[in-house]
Amino acid sequence: MASLEDLRRELRRIDGRGYRAYKDVGGRWAADACEVLIDHVQGDPFAAPSRVRIRVANAWPADLFDSRVRRIALQDWLARRTARAIHRVASERRGSGKSGLVAIDAGGQEVVERTAVALDENGVEARLEVGLPARGRRVLGREAETVLCDVLPEIALHALGPGNEVDAADFVDSVESQEALRAQLRERGLTAFVGDGAILPRESGVSERPLAGAVPFESPDALRVELEIPHAPHRISGMGVPQGVTLIVGGGYHGKSTLLRAIQRGVYPHVPGDGREWVVSDPDAVKLRAEDGRRVERVDISPFIGELPGGRDTAAFCSDDASGSTSQAAGIVEAVEVGARVVLLDEDTCATNFMIRDARMQELVASEDEPITPFLDRVRELWEVLGVSTLLIMGGSGDYFEAADTVIAMRAYRPQQVTERAREIAGTRATGRRSETRTPLAAPTPRVPRADSLDPSKGRRDVKISARSADEIGFGEEWIELRAVEQLVERSQTRAVGYALEALRRRHLEGRTLSQALDALEAQLDAEGLESLSRRWIDLARPRRHEVAAALNRLRTLRVAAAPIGGPGA
Ligand code: ADP
Ligand code: MG
Repeated sequence: MASLEDLRRELRRIDGRGYRAYKDVGGRWAADACEVLIDHVQGDPFAAPSRVRIRVANAWPADLFDSRVRRIALQDWLARRTARAIHRVASERRGSGKSGLVAIDAGGQEVVERTAVALDENGVEARLEVGLPARGRRVLGREAETVLCDVLPEIALHALGPGNEVDAADFVDSVESQEALRAQLRERGLTAFVGDGAILPRESGVSERPLAGAVPFESPDALRVELEIPHAPHRISGMGVPQGVTLIVGGGYHGKSTLLRAIQRGVYPHVPGDGREWVVSDPDAVKLRAEDGRRVERVDISPFIGELPGGRDTAAFCSDDASGSTSQAAGIVEAVEVGARVVLLDEDTCATNFMIRDARMQELVASEDEPITPFLDRVRELWEVLGVSTLLIMGGSGDYFEAADTVIAMRAYRPQQVTERAREIAGTRATGRRSETRTPLAAPTPRVPRADSLDPSKGRRDVKISARSADEIGFGEEWIELRAVEQLVERSQTRAVGYALEALRRRHLEGRTLSQALDALEAQLDAEGLESLSRRWIDLARPRRHEVAAALNRLRTLRVAAAPIGGPGA
């Protein structure tokens, strides 16, 4: 194998030549303690940066990566450590365009399986973006030498080599404890757990860092549970949110939405110091909201929306421009179809006419003229028939009191359990409304998406997939808008959703229901890793099946076979 000294010589040789001469330095270069692998060389200084891996022998204690959860956590910690090392030694620009840039995709407050760092017993590898230095469009050989032969090996040794084991162990143990909490939720009959002392609010609408000076979370006694975790402090107390129907009430600005947002992010572990380490929710908790304008493809929304004006079919409802209520109905049915166990709803982002219809309105507008069966009339069946819990913020209507198993009131950021009081009120003040359900709620019909309705090609490229931001995927000629899919946490995860759609198309969809295809996709990711989503390595973070389904359901070209294979329940 060629050595880093050979690379130095090569770079001196091509100094001052046209930028394309960098193509000659692709390949694997070894020094004593590390390797530099130049996998992809950018075409010019302004193009997407080059892709370079740095690799050292794995000298980490084996117990830091001896399970899947611990390995993912250690990789995540190493990616963050690499980002800090880059910040220290490589923040200089060295010429035109992206010259001298070094970057790693290290993630935000959540710990998500990602491709940025890989490790096994033998080696640890970080995948970097590097801007090969240029003056104008000429190779800057000396600068390149500094970046590739000095800076990168230094980062490799300081960020990937051993050191700071205590901090690494704390990080790995914390993530493992968070996952251990999550694993206990179902057997304890809980949908979520919010630890005493947790800091829920964030710094601002654009910063996910904890708000300084926030009121720490404190569970009401009536809902307090104590759970065991494998590492110190070994026992954690906090609020257990029971399965079934839970209502969060309280005055405006008292912290309701903040609590729900923390819970929706609680499907992922958080970095120590985030404040939400002990806010953990069911892995199949799905936040849903109204989203007018979205596309819907053959979803049976008839449990919520009956006959529409013009006799449109709501048992296989299609729309290129769904309304607030039809989009919300579709969202719930789609989520349950692929295995949601908890539905999270915030009145701030729900369609009012989907959520409630009070006695006065029932009297004024005859139910024959109102296609909507409000969610209120389905929420108990959702739990009792389908086993799907609901956690709902509803500060504006007391009509939900009798439907709720648990009522939590937020008062100045402190929760209280007010279930009995709400029942009492429900007993003395009747709503006067009638239930509007006509047919019992059944499990959603499994849909069979047509693989040939997904087309990732664009121009001359067979596959063109990109994530412009965390909420938009370019898929071939299509743009998939994901702003309403709130549990996508970062751009690399959104990018992975795009590639997951391509994996569904190519490998898993044909003849399968969507849920079966997602099972197969998850099996692929477990067995072959995230890397298997793309031929060339790119920065990816693992999405849940729910977000993959959400993206597919919003793809405007999606078509679903008219008659499900094997009928319902297949
Ligand atoms: P609601 O949904 O009840 O109207 P929000 O959750 O939107 O209230 O919270 C209102 C404001 O209070 C937000 O700016 C939020 O950051 C802040 N906030 C929420 N929880 C806390 C807390 N525990 N300590 C301090 N401020 C908080
Ligand atoms: Mg709110």
